[in-house]
Amino acid sequence: QVEQDQIKSLIRSIPDFPEAGVVFRDITTALKDAEGLRIIMDDFVERYKDKHIDYVLGADARGFIFGAALAYAIGAGFVPARKPGKLPAETVSVSYDLEYGSNSIEVHKDAFTKGDNVLVIDDLLATGGTAKAMTELVEALGAHVYELAFMIELADLGGRDILKEYDVYSQLKY
Ligand code: 5GP
Repeated sequence: QVEQDQIKSLIRSIPDFPEAGVVFRDITTALKDAEGLRIIMDDFVERYKDKHIDYVLGADARGFIFGAALAYAIGAGFVPARKPGKLPAETVSVSYDLEYGSNSIEVHKDAFTKGDNVLVIDDLLATGGTAKAMTELVEALGAHVYELAFMIELADLGGRDILKEYDVYSQLKY
């Protein structure tokens, strides 16, 4: 497990971003700290090496940062789950509800094949809407969700509840 206090001290909390009442957890301050980045990545690598993970699926955009580095370190491939209209080839898409309106996320149809073992990763778990949509993308292509991994979990927002059929790992909780 990561050195929670050390990493927490590197996360900057910004009140009222992107809207009033929200405290945004800014990870850029942890990423730019060489020692902080090393501790975060070593923890993920230690947990997921030798687990026969075929692909790491990272959420647009901060999930790409951890996802690609982790995939490289554990000898897996990396797949980006992108916001609509970004991927050039044929895609599969999943929509999910936000507080106001909805969003969708997609992967290429040939990203996974039946039986692939996929680790899903993002920087932060809030309501779990994004993460749940990613599990649906994996399963729509017949692949298996090994686990979901996050740097930060906002524990009060219930993300774990909507993901209860999956294993969920987070390095830090608020
Ligand atoms: P959810 O779908 O679980 O409600 O929201 C998680 C998504 O929103 C993640 O992709 C995450 O990057 C983004 N997000 C929501 N709140 C924050 C925050 O406070 N800090 C960061 N870094 N990302 C957030």
